Amino acid sequence: MASPLRHFFIALSKSPQLQDLIVGFPVSRRAARRFIAGERLEDAIDAIRATNAAGMVATLDFLGEHVHSEAEARANADEYIRALRAIHQARVDANISIKLTGMGLAVDDEFCYQNVRRIVQMAADLGNFVRIDMEDSPVTDRTIAIYRRLRGEFDNTGLVLQAYLFRTESDVCRLMEEGQAHLRLCKGAYDEPPAVAWQEKADVDRSLVSLMKFMLDSRDAYPGTYPALASHDHMIINWTKAYAYTHGITPDRFEFQMLYGIRRDLQQQLADQGYRMRVYIPYGTRWYPYYMRRLAERPANVVFFARAMFGN
Ligand SMILES: Cc1cc2nc3c(=O)[nH]c(=O)nc-3n(C[C@H](O)[C@H](O)[C@H](O)COP(=O)(O)OP(=O)(O)OC[C@H]3O[C@@H](n4cnc5c(N)ncnc54)[C@H](O)[C@@H]3O)c2cc1C
Repeated sequence: MASPLRHFFIALSKSPQLQDLIVGFPVSRRAARRFIAGERLEDAIDAIRATNAAGMVATLDFLGEHVHSEAEARANADEYIRALRAIHQARVDANISIKLTGMGLAVDDEFCYQNVRRIVQMAADLGNFVRIDMEDSPVTDRTIAIYRRLRGEFDNTGLVLQAYLFRTESDVCRLMEEGQAHLRLCKGAYDEPPAVAWQEKADVDRSLVSLMKFMLDSRDAYPGTYPALASHDHMIINWTKAYAYTHGITPDRFEFQMLYGIRRDLQQQLADQGYRMRVYIPYGTRWYPYYMRRLAERPANVVFFARAMFGN
């Protein structure tokens, strides 16, 4: 988890200078296409259609995090509203995933809330659902606060929690007690310090399994509890399948989620076995930080990227 490579690429993901350089190269744009459906909404709808045709559902991410002006944040929300309408019109099966730093969290919490509220209202009108992604730990409290406030008005929204954070077990418990545990559980994609997060992969894996087990075990005691396991880790996926099977937990009580372009074989296998499999489909021109996090997760991706950039 805390490998120097991971640290390095996550640091690079925050560099605006490098962003301008990398995004400008046609060859890096082509390399990024492995993980990004395309730059236009139409590309994303095509990717959702193909995903649905393969028996899977989707969640759509319009790329564009860390905006600093009201105008940019409003434009991001407008694009999500356009995306919700396009999903509805195309009759495809997809919800949306949003990041609060793309919705104006840096401007002001109230502004961000109202901006997100517009999207959630539109999703409610169209019978759709909005997932709030989780970003790095300086914004965890504010993200959870906005989620809880939204849940006070709407039930068509869910949150992401990260297994690498020490705090997550108590966040899960509290949200379950409040009946608000519509949660995507993932390992966590940012570079967090030892004061707040597990640093070793084995500890993070253990934490993810334990959170998933807890949510599956408590599903009847706490109405509204619905876990989505967002991981490509076949050991944890197999554990979840076996645990659900031996405890009589039917596949409609949870789902699996994976990122576009990663472990397509496993995605298809789970769908063919009758599990709900949701693919996270990002689109847009601001793919740089998302792409850098994917490089950080797997050294082999860096080799792939270097080959694309510099040839064999
Ligand atoms: C649907 C979805 C939504 C997510 N949302 C969030 C979020 O809101 N906030 C957040 O912090 N994180 C999010 N993540 C990212 C997550 O936290 C991890 O960083 C990421 O999923 C890698 O962890 P892993 O569970 O796949 O396990 P790992 O142990 O990292 O990987 C297990 C195996 O999966 C494959 N794999 C994993 N990553 C890659 C990759 N980049 N390229 C190629 N193969 C790979 C490899 O075969 C690897 O051996 C999300 C992940 C998914 C799947």
